[in-house]
Amino acid sequence: MNTFLQHNPTKLYFGKGQVEHIATEIPENSRVLLVYGGGSIKRNGVYDAVVGQLNSLNATVFALAGVEPNPRLTTVEKGVAICREEQIDYLLAVGGGSVIDCTKGIAAAAQYDGEAWDLFTQKAPIESALPFGTVLTLAATGSEMNPVSVITNWDTKDKIGWGSPHVYPAFSILDPSYTFSLPEDQTVYGIVDSMSHALEHYFHRTENTPMIDGFIESLLRTAIETGPKLIEDQQSFEHRETMMYLSTTAFNGTLSNGTDGGDWATHRIEHAISAVYDIPHGGGLAILFPYWLEHVLEEDPTRVKQLAVRVLGIPPEGKGDKEVAREGAKSLRNFWNSIGAPNRLSDYDIDDTHFDDIVEKTFIKPGVGTYKELDHASVLDILHRSL
Ligand code: NAP
Ligand code: FE
Repeated sequence: MNTFLQHNPTKLYFGKGQVEHIATEIPENSRVLLVYGGGSIKRNGVYDAVVGQLNSLNATVFALAGVEPNPRLTTVEKGVAICREEQIDYLLAVGGGSVIDCTKGIAAAAQYDGEAWDLFTQKAPIESALPFGTVLTLAATGSEMNPVSVITNWDTKDKIGWGSPHVYPAFSILDPSYTFSLPEDQTVYGIVDSMSHALEHYFHRTENTPMIDGFIESLLRTAIETGPKLIEDQQSFEHRETMMYLSTTAFNGTLSNGTDGGDWATHRIEHAISAVYDIPHGGGLAILFPYWLEHVLEEDPTRVKQLAVRVLGIPPEGKGDKEVAREGAKSLRNFWNSIGAPNRLSDYDIDDTHFDDIVEKTFIKPGVGTYKELDHASVLDILHRSL
């Protein structure tokens, strides 16, 4: 194992009715910016529950509505302008990963005099951020308990992941019943994204990590068991709560304790595709991850084989390592496909027209992948396999 520091300052309030903790977490009389998306929270009653809490602490509430899936820099800038004009002192994100990521961007950029994009591209250091809480409505990204955010600059068509210890949420409310109203496709993408975060962590190169490896394997097996049951019965509180806790745990730092942190090349390629085509993150990952596995197993099948045997139940007897590993990659693709995820870029009408551009955008930051560091040709290979 590597040395590590475990310190996640986000307070998690998990379970039915936990929204009441907003009233104890946000200081009384605060000037609050409520950040949300396209209106799902108004239709499912979450908005009313949240505003009721804010009223009870005598907050002055301002709103930034309309945060788009794959949140845009321009929306972050709108939020920053409100923060400055209205002297906002607390932010509250109510929604999925996009709303939370946008709120993180606003929280950091509101405390910085220059261009917000300079913070996200690491041209300028992030030295502070406004405090914020979250009310999660989609189990997927883990953003509710991590210091990471993904913002798209639609003018340059760049989608960048960035992070800072200053943008951990102060608190997050996770009430699984808030996810009942999700459309089926978003529930599916959430399962895929959570599993992909676990998989990214699994592909590390650190020796002697039986605890973490076993933890990740167990998490993935739970997703494989619960995911189809949830799709079958989307109003099941039990399955919703399992997937919600799973998605938070898959990306809150727990799975990188003592390892090099994992690979993350698949996320980098997905962000590049989303920057050009604006497709759902989980959908992109469902297509790419099995092909990334196929790409890496050609050079070294060891860990893909381990995943195949321990998680996907592929019997290894009498087979070569690569054969077992290939069956594992196929099995993962079939699993995601069986719950309704896409498995080819053509499912989104994407052909090879912009592949060179996507490869360039994948390298927006140097170093793509750690388990296997990819060069331009490798990324192109994965894209061609995914067509
Ligand atoms: P999302 O983009 O936040 O939301 C997708 C859609 O689901 C929206 O249309 C949203 O509608 C709807 N929705 C959310 N909750 C709902 C509910 N309870 N009922 C009905 N509809 C609901 O999806 P996401 O997968 O959570 O976030 C994706 C973004 O996060 C991508 O940009 C991705 O790159 C990024 N990401 C971030 C991290 C991280 O660690 N920060 C990790 C992975 C990915 P409304 O707009 O009406 O709310
Ligand atoms: Fe993700």
